[in-house]
Parts: sequence; structure tokens; C-alpha cells
Amino acid sequence: MEAASIVLFGATGDLAMRKLYPALFNLYMDGKIPSTFSVIGLGRREWTDEYFQSHIAKALNAFSRRKPDETLVREFVQAFRYCALDVNNSEDYTRLKELVVQREQQLGLAGNRLFYLSVGPEFFATIAEQLIQSGLGETAGWKRLVIEKPFGRDLASARELNEKLSHFFSEEEVYRIDHYLGKPMVQNLEVLEYSNPVIHALWSNRYIANVQITAAETVGVEERAGYYDKTGAIRDMFQNHMLQLLMMTTMHLPNPSTPEEVRRKKKSVLESLRPLQPEDIAAHVIRGQYQEGVIAGQAVQGYLDEPGIEPYSQNDTFIAAKLWIDNHFWKGIPIYIRTGKRMQEKSTRIVVQFKDPMESYNDPRHTTAEPNLLVIEINPNEGISLQLNTKDADHPGQFVPVRANSMTHAADMPEAYENLIFDALRGDATFFAHWDEVELSWAWVQPILEAFEANALPLYTYKSGSNGPEAAHELLGSDKWWLDK
Ligand code: NAD
Repeated sequence: MEAASIVLFGATGDLAMRKLYPALFNLYMDGKIPSTFSVIGLGRREWTDEYFQSHIAKALNAFSRRKPDETLVREFVQAFRYCALDVNNSEDYTRLKELVVQREQQLGLAGNRLFYLSVGPEFFATIAEQLIQSGLGETAGWKRLVIEKPFGRDLASARELNEKLSHFFSEEEVYRIDHYLGKPMVQNLEVLEYSNPVIHALWSNRYIANVQITAAETVGVEERAGYYDKTGAIRDMFQNHMLQLLMMTTMHLPNPSTPEEVRRKKKSVLESLRPLQPEDIAAHVIRGQYQEGVIAGQAVQGYLDEPGIEPYSQNDTFIAAKLWIDNHFWKGIPIYIRTGKRMQEKSTRIVVQFKDPMESYNDPRHTTAEPNLLVIEINPNEGISLQLNTKDADHPGQFVPVRANSMTHAADMPEAYENLIFDALRGDATFFAHWDEVELSWAWVQPILEAFEANALPLYTYKSGSNGPEAAHELLGSDKWWLDK
């Protein structure tokens, strides 16, 4: 990997502290970033380099997945410098440029620059423009722009933002973060399908009955009420993370795959997604809002009682949808997706339910058989299991399901941000959201946003600590959500 300067906007923020510094440090520990590198942190506050470096050391102690060694931390923070900057002030960018160039000269860096925007989305376009106008974009090395979510709040605003950014950075230079794509088990999905003939052979509507993708959280809105009340599960989770999981699960790849091929296949999944007509939305989408309840023995309040939430808010904290991919591989079988807050269990998982051939043979024994299930656990545990049927020794003619399990302990795995920063530094955009994917996702979701806005759908309530509104179970008809406790 070529050495680079990282220019980090939002260096005093929460994301940098919890995720970005620990990720960089763990990459450093593993020798995955060059030992000579420069990070210039930017924020509104007036911090000294020393204060900034001690802030990073504290962040590592609090949030690194591996215990930081003091000597290594002291060495690591030497790479960091701080520069106070107001994103709207062009003079600040002139100072920034001087500092970047000075550090490049001191460290003998070739001018590769990674601009990381860990700030609110209202600043993305301004920063991109200022970077180019200040001359920071003119460099002998490469330049890349890493952008945090959210990328727009509907189709029109996403297009507008992309149009603005495209004046200053090319699509190849823009790395849109969707941190679900950084999760090791999500990155594993493509390998799982193409490197295992058993799975590869079965990966279509011929053998699969349905696919279920769940991302459940036990937390409520926490301190993000102002943001979340205007965003909802559909924008916060569904349009981005859930549709990315759908693409990663259902694309079919040749072996070996290239980043271009992955993106082409992902795009083609979205192009095959059956658009929802306004009159079909109620039959395919369920929205919900949590009420008070009990989670892990603790009483918790309902959404409308949370501080900072509008008194009569109609915001969705849960969404479930039934989707259809009208292509050769998936035509005719439903894909179920749901995500919500204050659910019973924190869990992100994909369950693939296989068809039961005994059903079509009219074998009476099928009623006692559970379907074969392939379960991919993404978070908080990582693992894969396969549910198979075996002979029930006690009840002749009946079956007992067994689970073949492979579990990896999440603590040993690199965190999503480690994978993503590593990839951005080495120029591999496979696990970043391409504009085509973002645009097609917003386009698919847009009629649902409008139906929510117009209150054209019921807003179901669900008890905190449950598996969502009853209607989300009825959505599946004769199918059921597997593994709900
Ligand atoms: P934060 O509010 O903690 O930090 C914001 C940062 O922006 C601070 O460093 C602040 O100094 C800087 N900033 C604000 N206004 C500025 C200005 N005018 N000029 C210069 N700097 C300015 O936010 P955060 O939680 O760190 O999130 C940053 C971004 O990442 C947001 O876009 C957010 O949506 C996204 N994000 C955050 C998380 C998370 O877990 N925190 C997860 C995913 C995405």
C-alpha cells in the first residue's frame, strides 16, 4: 500500500472517537498501514496537537477492540496533527493546505490524499468544492473522498448532492461509506456463494423458498432524537444497509470476481427489483412505532415519550417489506426484510429457507419436517449454520432438526471501519456504495417515503421487547420469520 495523508473532517466528533481512531490504530498494529503516515484532524474547536493526540490516546483506551499498548499508542499518535477549520471559510483551507504539504515534505510522502468527511451531510458539497478551489486536490499522488452517511434524504436530494460532488471528484474517487458493507460476514457473502459448490448450486428460486433479512436493535433513539424523528427506519436503515444486504445476498458472481463485476451484479439486482405501485404499498410494507415495554428485564418508555420526539410523531421505528426480484434467479420467491428499534434481541442475520421437495411429492412425512435453513449471523455474533433433518429415534417416521454450526467470536474479527479504511487507502471500492446503487435504492424507496409522508399506510405500534407489530408477521402469509425468540 502506498503511504498517504488522511485529512479528517469531524476529528473532534463522536464517530472519529468511537470508530475511526480505533480502526486506524488496529490497522497500524497489524502493519496494514504504512508506518509513515500523516493524519490531519479538523474540527471547529481550537485544539493543540498535544490535546488532539491525548484525545486519540483516550479514545483508543476506551474503544479499541484490542487493548492498546502504551508505547505503541505514543508512537501512533505522533502521526496526528490538528487544524481548527470552519468548513465554510476558504482561508482555513489555505492554512490546511500548507499543513498538509508541510507534513508530506517532512515525512517524504508522495502526495496521496484521502479526504474523510465525518461531518453532517449538509457540509459534504461545500467541503468538496473548497478542497478543489483551495488547490488541495492538485497533487502528484491520488486523491479520494470518503463520505459518511446519509447520502440524501430522498431521490431528489441524493441526486442533487451527487451532481454537486461530481463537479469536484469523479465517481472513481468517491467512496461512500455504508458500514454494513465493512462487516466481515457481509464481505464473506460473495465468497460463501461462489466458493462453495453446495451453496452455489442451490442459490436460486429452484431450491430456495424465501430469503429473510433482519436487522433488529434493542436500543431506542438514544441521543439522536432530533435526527431520527425526521429520518425513521426507512431512511436510517432500509434504503441503505438493508438494500445493500439484499444485493450482497442475491447477486450471482463469476469466480473470480472483480470490484467492477461485484458492482455490476449489485446494480442489476436493484434493476430487477419489482417497483412498488402506490396501490401495492400497503400489501408489501408494514411500518411500526415502539411503545413502552420491557427489554432484558428493564422497563423502557415508548417512542412518543422519548425526550426530543414530537408529541404526535408518526415516525417509523420499524419497517418490514416483502420484495420481489424479477430476474432469472429469483423470480417468484419473496424476499422479506425487516428492521426496527427496541426489538427483543439485537441481531442482524440472513435466513435462507429452502424448499421442501417432499411437499411436492405429497409425502405425508413433510408435515413433521422443518425446512432446511441456512443462517448467516452478521451481528453481534458472526457465524453460519445449516439446519438439516435427521431421523427421530424415538418417533419412527418422524424427523428432528439439527444445526451444523460454525461460529466465530466477534471480538477477534476486524471491525467494519478497519476493513473500509484499509480498502479506501488501497483504492479498492468493492465494499463502498456506488452512485448507481444509491440512486436505484432511493428510486425504489421513494414511493414508500411518499406513502409514509401522506400517512397513506397504517402506523402499527409494537411493544418494546417484541419482534415488531403483528402485521409484520401477517405480511408473510403462510411463511414465518424464523428464529424469533
Ligand atoms: P458529531 O456531531 O459528533 O461530530 C461532528 C463533527 O463535525 C465535529 O468534529 C465538529 O467539529 C465538526 N463540525 C461541525 N460543524 C462544523 C463546521 N462548520 N466546520 C468544521 N467542522 C464542523 O457527529 P458524528 O457522530 O461524529 O458523525 C459524523 C458523521 O458521520 C455524520 O454525517 C453522521 O451522520 C455520520 N455517522 C455517524 C455515526 C455514528 O455512529 N456516530 C454512524 C454513521 C454515520
